[in-house]
Amino acid sequence: MKTEPVGLLFDMVRCAGCRKCIEACMDLHHFEGDPKHVTDLSATAYTSMIEKDDCSIRNLCRHCLEPSCVSVCPVGALQKTELGPVTYDVDRCIGCRYCMVACPFNIPRYEWDNPVPAIQKCDMCVDRLKAGEKPACVDACDYEATLFGTRTELLAEARARIAEDPDDYYDHVYGETEIGGTSVLFLAPKPEEALGYKEILGTEPLPGLTLKQLNRVPSIVVGGGAALMAIWWITNRRDEVAEAEGRVRPGGPKGSAGKDDHHEWN
Ligand code: SF4
Ligand code: SF4
Ligand code: SF4
Repeated sequence: MKTEPVGLLFDMVRCAGCRKCIEACMDLHHFEGDPKHVTDLSATAYTSMIEKDDCSIRNLCRHCLEPSCVSVCPVGALQKTELGPVTYDVDRCIGCRYCMVACPFNIPRYEWDNPVPAIQKCDMCVDRLKAGEKPACVDACDYEATLFGTRTELLAEARARIAEDPDDYYDHVYGETEIGGTSVLFLAPKPEEALGYKEILGTEPLPGLTLKQLNRVPSIVVGGGAALMAIWWITNRRDEVAEAEGRVRPGGPKGSAGKDDHHEWN
């Protein structure tokens, strides 16, 4: 069956802050802990929530359309699927943690306590999607504050909600254009920098940026410049070699889902 790339819409205006989404995610992945206290991502929390100015703000992987985590991974452990989720293959991972440096939203977490550590992050419940189910956090939400659908459907729903209640919503769908677009979209009652979609990121996809431009990403600290230069060189060199050999690297800008992409689902 052909279908469009899918994603999630998180609506801060409708969110009741009940944290059932976090609980469902933790249950699904057998993570221990109290969802009420999950205020940041970790190796055992793929989604978190903070309260700010009477708003509950979810955090999770944005499943970027052109993910920088994918573009810097030297071994293709992270991939942008045509379905939408950015997935992770632990068997390929060499633990370099370049993805952690490159992500503009500071999403990937590392299993520091594990003797054989892996990267951990939301995969949009890709196995459930392939089985015809919705992500666990979506099923858990009683307020339609976390929605699942094709990205086209979610953008239409977001615009409809703004049009119906222009006083309640800030007229912007976060993730529609930022850094080339993301598969997770956000609605907010006001300009919300806590979402991480800071103006500094712009609308240009990060994988195409040079080292100088990558330094605009807030999560990249001083001292990471040399590492980024190495990443940039490695990934570009790998692309050049692949191109010379007539191969196409999985994931990255060339493998990313575009607005009009269609694919096999199931
Ligand atoms: S760059 Fe960050 S937010 Fe984007 S897909 Fe990768 S981990 Fe997720
Ligand atoms: S999509 Fe799945 S993995 Fe991601 S936050 Fe929701 S429940 Fe967790
Ligand atoms: S389950 Fe829905 S309403 Fe409850 S915190 Fe999550 S997004 Fe908000």
